[in-house]
Amino acid sequence: MSRPATPARPKPGEFSLRTVSLSSLTWYLTVSCGLGLIVLAGYHVMTSAGLDLTAALIMDAVLLVALELLPLVQGRGHDPQGVVMSTAFTCAVLFLWGIWPAVLMIAVASIAADLNVGKSWWKVAFNPAQYALSVAAGYLVMRMAGHPSSLAHPLRHFGVSDLGWAFGVWMAYFIVNLALVAAAVSYTSSFMRVITDDYWHYTSMTFAVLALSPLIVIVSLHAWALTPLLLIPLLLLYHTAQMSLEREHAAAHDALTGLANRDMLQFTLGEALEAFHHDGRSFGLLLIDLDDFKLVNDTLGHQVGDMVLVHFAERLRGCIRPGDQVCRLGGDEFAVVVAAADEQDVRAVAERVSASFGDPFELEGVLLEIEPSIGIAVCPLHGVDGDTLLRHADVAMYQAKEAHTGIESYRRERDGNSADRLSLIGELRQALEDDAIELHYQPKLTTVDASVLGVEALVRWNHPQRGYIPPDSFIPLAERSGIMHLLTERVVNLALEQISTWRAEGMHVPIAVNISPADLLGRRLSGIVTAGLRRHEIPASMLQLEITERMVDHHLSETSQALSELRELGVTVSLDDFGTGYSSLMRLHELPVDEIKIDRAFISSMGSGSAAEGIVQALVDLAHALGLPAIAEGVETPEEWQRLRAFRCDGVQGWHVAVPMPGPDATIWLRRRHPDGRTAPSSHSMRSTKAGLVGNGPGAGRSALSAVGRPD
Ligand code: C2E
Ligand code: CA
Ligand code: CA
Repeated sequence: MSRPATPARPKPGEFSLRTVSLSSLTWYLTVSCGLGLIVLAGYHVMTSAGLDLTAALIMDAVLLVALELLPLVQGRGHDPQGVVMSTAFTCAVLFLWGIWPAVLMIAVASIAADLNVGKSWWKVAFNPAQYALSVAAGYLVMRMAGHPSSLAHPLRHFGVSDLGWAFGVWMAYFIVNLALVAAAVSYTSSFMRVITDDYWHYTSMTFAVLALSPLIVIVSLHAWALTPLLLIPLLLLYHTAQMSLEREHAAAHDALTGLANRDMLQFTLGEALEAFHHDGRSFGLLLIDLDDFKLVNDTLGHQVGDMVLVHFAERLRGCIRPGDQVCRLGGDEFAVVVAAADEQDVRAVAERVSASFGDPFELEGVLLEIEPSIGIAVCPLHGVDGDTLLRHADVAMYQAKEAHTGIESYRRERDGNSADRLSLIGELRQALEDDAIELHYQPKLTTVDASVLGVEALVRWNHPQRGYIPPDSFIPLAERSGIMHLLTERVVNLALEQISTWRAEGMHVPIAVNISPADLLGRRLSGIVTAGLRRHEIPASMLQLEITERMVDHHLSETSQALSELRELGVTVSLDDFGTGYSSLMRLHELPVDEIKIDRAFISSMGSGSAAEGIVQALVDLAHALGLPAIAEGVETPEEWQRLRAFRCDGVQGWHVAVPMPGPDATIWLRRRHPDGRTAPSSHSMRSTKAGLVGNGPGAGRSALSAVGRPD
């Protein structure tokens, strides 16, 4: 009735006859007893003296083999039990002629069917043996009920009163068959799971098929030539089962790529976890997301986007091993459940996936380079339940994306979503509402005469319990949890308020605020800036936006466009952390920025004659070649300042000049430096001057009037 089908799902364990397990023991016992029965059956049939009802017997045998050759109807397409239509005939032959012809016929049919579809040898041996034992169990019930049919003494009559023992035969056959198969395939998951999985579908189908056996008996007895007519209900049953399975398949798979879907992933994870709890088999989960897929969709259209996904799915299928399961979770997110011993193993699969994307996709004549970001979570190392593993793989994937490393395993210490961090997000939200977020201001000076170019606003959060929390710790959280725009709005408004306060006191100091990539890619920033400038009645040129160079690497066209729009408002843009990204010179040339800030990593590693020194010099020259002023950040010593001056770097910022200060302290500091309240030309006007224009910002045209000498 049922037999182990080729499992199409992940097998955390492979079937092995060399290890002692429920599967291997069941296999040895079944095959030795079953094959013995089959040999005996052959002997009895060959040596049977008188055959009765020969024509009917041959007809039933032919139909049995024909039905056995039909493809198996499998529960859900992934469970190891399949409903076999020939069982109706096996059972009828058992009723009519007893155990030996039934065993022999089903054995021959099963071997033929299994060889036909190329099953592995251990299944080809196991299936006829377990059928033989199931038939024998049914026959025992017949004997106990007093109906020991045989070739010489076939059943002569079947009536309503025979339904009782017939049902007993079915039950015996069904139970032995199910138990043997479940025990044999318990290497894929637990014994109970195989039994309970899809139980009702399997049981009802099996009994529907078995219930036809009395009809076959009656027709064989009274009009054997009509037996083929009984194929009609059997084939209808087969068809119905196939259709319902196709429907189930559709519900568990993604229509575009044909991969398993999210529901199926849950199911697969459930099975893998069961296997883990059962005998400690570990496995891995990969979450894969295509970098910049949105860009493909937006620029080349959804049709091309769909084609990319289909090609991607194909490549993904090519990277995995037979036991692994690939799913599409929706959009450009994919998952793979990997049967693996440890993290190393899982990573090897991830690396294979990543390497397979080395070649670009060619779609409609366009070469597309698409790279995946892959997050890894391993059971039990990173979790022992589905939700945790999924969440942790997601966190790892996000880190791979952020760090542009391609592949990352989950690391607890870097988890932005651990319970602690989650509560921090709530507290940050609260801090924003309670105005507990402050800005500190760090001056930027001209290198030559130390006059003030402006200040950079740096956000500060003094947590009532946790103390000072550095922006590097909570900004990534704000970005991930979608509240970055709230923080940016707050920062921009605080900066504008400060400009306005200073203006009221006669000080014209431009402020630079840091803008996160999330702000620039979102749609809210220009609205926030416009509204703020209008509310505080401040000229746009007093505000500068610092954006990190790393942003440009991955979102050049979006960044360019967003920056152009912002500059149209009149604000200036500074390219922060310059030298840490990989923006090509061509791209840089196209980028609408007004100033370049050389990353402090280069400044801190400057020592006379060092490579970093050459790089700083080159970066300054590069900025000038682009017509932009260069500002060095993180200047901590007078020597650094000297050297930067020698390189003709335009501006400096760092602890040597001043540490970031709260508003009132910054006011005192600025006033001391520029008693008349006037600062050096802003970088905005610096660029204009280079272009031969007269600057028109409030700082434009005003040089530092009474710049005090540079700090000692
Ligand atoms: P950044 O834009 O590169 O800011 C400069 C960082 O260098 C600041 O750290 C500043 O305190 C520190 N610094 C200043 N002078 C020196 C020095 O001489 N030596 C060294 N070693 N460090 C110096 P902070 O305030 O911790 O900010 C870190 C990063 O957080 C910033 O890097 C910026 O990317 C981000 N950030 C800060 N405030 C905001 C904000 O309001 N919005 C956004 N989106 N990001 C912000
Ligand atoms: Ca900055
Ligand atoms: Ca920086």
